[in-house]
Amino acid sequence: MKISEIFYSVQGEGSLVGVPSVFIRTSGCNLRCVWCDTPYTSWAPEGDDISVTAILEKVSNIGASHAVVTGGEPMIAPAVRELTLGLQRLGLHITIETAGTVFAQLPCDLMSISPKLINSTPNEREGGRWAAQHERLRYQPHVLKQLMAAYPYQLKFVVAAWDDIAEIEVICHEIGAPARNVILMPEGIDHKTLQQRGLWITEACKQHGYRFSPRLHVDLWGAKRGV
Ligand code: SF4
Repeated sequence: MKISEIFYSVQGEGSLVGVPSVFIRTSGCNLRCVWCDTPYTSWAPEGDDISVTAILEKVSNIGASHAVVTGGEPMIAPAVRELTLGLQRLGLHITIETAGTVFAQLPCDLMSISPKLINSTPNEREGGRWAAQHERLRYQPHVLKQLMAAYPYQLKFVVAAWDDIAEIEVICHEIGAPARNVILMPEGIDHKTLQQRGLWITEACKQHGYRFSPRLHVDLWGAKRGV
């Protein structure tokens, strides 16, 4: 598998925030979010080819109870099922972080789905050459429904502007997602932006019954890799 990094940290986002977890980050993504915070897995994918056996050995040596398979888009990694079967054999709790554009049947204790909003489309970046593909793929309601039916899940939205809230409402209505499964978190890779956006996003959470998530890793370490 093409792996960009494996590291031990605490989960920074969502319902398991703060839980010590080993992160396995696959490289490669079918989307190109304009604000992608891991461009080394999407815009300019890098990483090493590592066998599932070697990954599992490394994970086993770390000795964590929770694993997070993230990306990039892990659901398009050819060996992702083999990897998650191995993690299951090791007895780890498995979270998969996905944009929810591709369905696969695999062992997973929490499908952490982050559907991408209009604010993610790269209209200008690299001359807009990825905009059409991104826009065509980013929202796949039938895949979201499949994932929601097959797995324990959370829907985690990256919010940058107040208008995003109305878009989230439309999506949740369309796919039948209850507010209790919806988590909003601010877009941003520095503490000040997260704090400013967090103040009004928490108001939206109060109005709609959504949950707010910090981005703990950004608050603690800033825009640093491997933490
Ligand atoms: S889906 Fe995730 S990894 Fe892919 S471009 Fe968007 S933010 Fe980056």
